[in-house]
Amino acid sequence: MNIIMLLVLSIISTVTQAAEGKVCQYSATVWNVAARKSVRTIKIFKPYDAVTDKERGPFGCTPCLVDQVDIELPFVKTFKVCRFIAEKVKSALLNAHYAGFPISEVEGYRPSYSKGKPDQLQNRTELSNHAFGAAIDINANHNGLYDKCIQWSNDCRLIKGGKRDLSKQETISENSPLYYEMKRIGLKWGGEIQGLQKDFMHFSETGY
Ligand SMILES: [Zn+2]
Repeated sequence: MNIIMLLVLSIISTVTQAAEGKVCQYSATVWNVAARKSVRTIKIFKPYDAVTDKERGPFGCTPCLVDQVDIELPFVKTFKVCRFIAEKVKSALLNAHYAGFPISEVEGYRPSYSKGKPDQLQNRTELSNHAFGAAIDINANHNGLYDKCIQWSNDCRLIKGGKRDLSKQETISENSPLYYEMKRIGLKWGGEIQGLQKDFMHFSETGY
């Protein structure tokens, strides 16, 4: 084999390695404010190096599939979260489960443009914390998203998920082992955010 042949082989091998390990791939839905639903899907396939600032979220997470990992637990359907918080989230959910808090539904990674100022076509322009795998929803059927809710009361208006009933075991409150565990790993609760909305299923770095 001559020197040129060796050189060509070495270049091919370098290019192949880069393509295998360094690709950013994901599909994100786009929420339209006027239609009040997702109107299209953006499909991304590019070198990981081409990730933009808008694609970098809390904890260094990105929407790229290569940054998302499966969390497998015996009591709930497998879900994905950002690899930089995966171990913490897993241990928090396990501890809460063993402390007697029933966890029946979890959703983490869910790539969508559902934040930010709408553009001219009324499409949202920023990725949500779920799009980075940096937020998790727990027991959505018992911990809905409410508006008209400066403070929790029965007058708050349910807009997504299930009705909040403090007599149910799956309902999250400041006294839940789950709340304690999430706080321990540095996640804030959507049930305690400022403003009109309360997202009782939701945990993230800021609670939003
Ligand atoms: Zn959420």
